Amino acid sequence: MTKTDRPDLLVVGAGLFGLTIADHAAQRGHRVLVLERRSHIGGNCYDELNEETGITKHVFGSHLFHTPNEKVWDYLNRFTDFAPYEHRVFANSGGQAYSFPMNLSLIAQVYGRYYSPEEAKALIASEASEIDTDSASNLEEKAISLIGRKLYEQFVRGYTQKQWNTDPKELDAEIITRLPVRYDFDNRYFTDRYQGQPAQGYTAMFERMADHPNIEIRYGVDYISERDRGLYEGVPTVYTGPLDEYFGYELGRLPWRTVDFEDEVLDVDDFQGTAVMNYNDADVPFTRILEHQHYDPQAAQNKVSGKTIISREYSRFAEPGDEVYYPINSDSSRELAAAYKAKARDEEAKGVFFGGRLGNYAYLDMWMAVNSAIHLYEQSIDPLIRERSSKRRRLTASERTDDRTRELIRLINVLMEVLEEAGEPLRRDEARRRTARRAGVSTSGMGFVITSAQAEGLVKDSLRSGLVSIA
Ligand code: UDP
Repeated sequence: MTKTDRPDLLVVGAGLFGLTIADHAAQRGHRVLVLERRSHIGGNCYDELNEETGITKHVFGSHLFHTPNEKVWDYLNRFTDFAPYEHRVFANSGGQAYSFPMNLSLIAQVYGRYYSPEEAKALIASEASEIDTDSASNLEEKAISLIGRKLYEQFVRGYTQKQWNTDPKELDAEIITRLPVRYDFDNRYFTDRYQGQPAQGYTAMFERMADHPNIEIRYGVDYISERDRGLYEGVPTVYTGPLDEYFGYELGRLPWRTVDFEDEVLDVDDFQGTAVMNYNDADVPFTRILEHQHYDPQAAQNKVSGKTIISREYSRFAEPGDEVYYPINSDSSRELAAAYKAKARDEEAKGVFFGGRLGNYAYLDMWMAVNSAIHLYEQSIDPLIRERSSKRRRLTASERTDDRTRELIRLINVLMEVLEEAGEPLRRDEARRRTARRAGVSTSGMGFVITSAQAEGLVKDSLRSGLVSIA
């Protein structure tokens, strides 16, 4: 695609949602331009090799792939193998590392003896009896209704307050249902049928998704300012940036959470013995420590012996200019988010669609982003691109059109395509070049040459009658 070309589809953001859309469009023969404000692919899933340790670091926090959805799993497996990986998290409180999320090990550790599944259910039922789950209206009530006040105080309240900078009483109850409550010894964080880590990392997977002649990614480009200069008007667009930013914050700023990472390379082979250790006490300033080697499938071969890299994760409200990570689903944000989402729906009539965690202001897991991108593409984007490109061709034959006119229409349409796509894509595309040659048009440098008298007459007549025009 040259600088002046108009793509069939514009994608704003080279993250998981945007690239799933871009790949689908490219596979269908549409030309996609992806604008990425940052200097790298993959959004917050981006990872890179830390040279000093030989370990791949998840630069924007740990990403663990899991999905119950076979279609999503098969889809991503086109771009990467997945190394087997099941995520486990431990909860550090008062200097002890507890088994997590709630399971029989945690109960034994907290209550001082082994409880059988039936005993544990009875214990938690009595601990949690003060609030009925169905009537819980916020995160705090929901958590207490599921695990009881004691476990809530020790493992949820401080952590949640640190993570969201918001009182758990104001947060949406659904956030806590991300954490399972189990009455067995299963301490896997996710139980989805399909789980694993991309064998060569997330960045390699994204590079393969984008590796198609119909996809061009431009880095360091800010879509909003390009749009405000009138570029890409009328081009079907998928926007995956922050929802409120698209509208120039005209209704006010949505609350977002951002994360700061304090990385440290340590001269020990293994710092904490596991990938993620949560720090649940309110007086520890960070929420968790990530030790990247434990979820890096290549660490076993590549890691420098006697070294490890960790990241302490600190959570805070995003200020203007910060990269945003999580929407904050609280009482105060709900109405504003709904108002922006209504505006986003209105934009669809103009061919602009919103997607991903930031574009939807929704706490999506990776697989959900892929799944919703596939659906959006099939249901809305592909039909829209087809409609726009058939409009571009302008001429159609009717049932009564005689054969000669039908042939002329075909030639005009080929010609129009050549006019619109003169230059690089045409020269690259052998099949299209052959069709054009048959229609009496051939390419020369950046332009085109009409090589048959019939085609020439046709162009002249069409221009004269106003059937076609040259922009
Ligand atoms: N949570 C908690 N204590 C923990 C871990 C999680 O209270 O040790 C709560 C917290 O409110 C968090 C939610 O459970 O927002 C979901 O946690 P998850 O680990 O899924 O968050 P993510 O990994 O997406 O940041």
